[in-house]
Amino acid sequence: MPIYEYRCPSCGFQKEHLQKMSDQPLSTCPSCGAAGYAKLLSAAGFQLKGSGWYATDFKGGSSSAPAASPSSDSSPAAGCGGGCACH
Ligand SMILES: [Zn+2]
Repeated sequence: MPIYEYRCPSCGFQKEHLQKMSDQPLSTCPSCGAAGYAKLLSAAGFQLKGSGWYATDFKGGSSSAPAASPSSDSSPAAGCGGGCACH
């Protein structure tokens, strides 16, 4: 739910309001009752939360590349599960 920051030009009252997108914007100052209560577009409460940046994924990606596995072919005695051609 977005947070809107409102400010009253009459008395200077300023407050953040948690509103649904479908809610009517406030227009009346809860402090003095003036009708000029309006959203601040440069609200400090607006922040992108949980940005999907995972910079760690770019490190060490090449080390996990599939290399030739010598254990499957050149060592018939160790770890043979019956699925190989060593018997
Ligand atoms: Zn006011």
